[in-house]
Amino acid sequence: MSTGLAFSYESRAQRVVFGAGTARTDLAAEIERLGCARVLVVAAHAERELAEELTSVLPVVATFLDVRQHVPLETATAARALAGTSGADSVLSIGGGSTTGTAKAIAMTTGLPIIAVPTTYAGSEATAVWGLTDAGRKSTGTDPAVLPRTVIYDPELTLSLPADLTVASGLNAMAHCVDSLWAPNANPMSSAMAVAGIRGLRQALPEVRRDGSNLDARAAALSAAYLAAVAFTTAGSGLHHKICHVLGGTYDLPHAPTHAVVLPYVAAFNVSSAPSAAALLADALGVPDPVSGLVELYASLGAPGSLRELGLSSDDLPEAARLVAEAAPASNPRPVGRDDAALILRHAWAGDRPGSDQLEAHR
Ligand code: NAD
Repeated sequence: MSTGLAFSYESRAQRVVFGAGTARTDLAAEIERLGCARVLVVAAHAERELAEELTSVLPVVATFLDVRQHVPLETATAARALAGTSGADSVLSIGGGSTTGTAKAIAMTTGLPIIAVPTTYAGSEATAVWGLTDAGRKSTGTDPAVLPRTVIYDPELTLSLPADLTVASGLNAMAHCVDSLWAPNANPMSSAMAVAGIRGLRQALPEVRRDGSNLDARAAALSAAYLAAVAFTTAGSGLHHKICHVLGGTYDLPHAPTHAVVLPYVAAFNVSSAPSAAALLADALGVPDPVSGLVELYASLGAPGSLRELGLSSDDLPEAARLVAEAAPASNPRPVGRDDAALILRHAWAGDRPGSDQLEAHR
């Protein structure tokens, strides 16, 4: 008797070291373990001091500091050139998703192994997804060569994240979980990780928001963000990610706050057409209605509320809707035409209270 359940699933090999203080105690041994002896450090200017402190005893041959959000092609070209001239045999990224993304751009063309030390909840370190922006268009793709070989998750490094970035980045991780419930390659393993990630984030983020110095809550949020990223890299980019790629790549909106704002509107749009995903989401959030559950969590976190406040002009909405409709996955549980994309974007731009009724009513 057939159940109709069918899927393909590819796990990805990566070593993960998790624990408070590990960036200080384990980095040298992890680099040696990979047999590397010429390290190119990638860190944003803001993380320069931290990078210098963590790498003071490492065999560093060069440092690339000119990290830019969404990895413009010029940034990738400059970083790759430094990798070549320095004779590096490995790339060590210390920072948020933009820094990891720059290391990935190097690995894409050089094949150098990456050791990633993340300092936000972005999750790029656990995915084989790269992103590059050229002439206002962000492209993403999957390449096993860009998956960091080793990740050192040290929650102490997240203690310095300010409250607004903590919330936005944590909700970026939440978006990885939720979108992977209906993404093109969603499967029972990715959904299990997504559900565990949603539970972890739902519990940890309010604690971290209340007290950013709570190291246990920071660790819980970081491990949930790791689960979120693994769910995302196996399930692929769903509608939510496609919308955020357009908004980030074409309109240069800030990555994590954009993900935070858009998520409840995509959930409101999709849940009525995705009952199994909706049930998993409601259960993981511990509420009867998943969209209301997200709205309540957002209110408790003081999350960013609208694309307007992130700087998107209303004049850009029609073109953004066209780009979103082009990029939307054909497998999305509810078809996404230009009017649908416009509807989601209009509500997210205005910061209306997200609700499935509201998104239905305007159809
Ligand atoms: P980011 O890396 O741009 O960092 C945001 C800001 O936070 C920067 O100013 C940075 O200096 C600062 N910062 C980082 N860590 C800090 C800390 N511990 N304390 C204080 N300040 C800190 O932002 P992000 O949200 O981490 O990453 C966004 C980027 O990552 C985007 O380009 C996005 O496309 C990419 N990304 C890629 C994937 C993937 O799978 N490829 C997944 C998620 C995000």
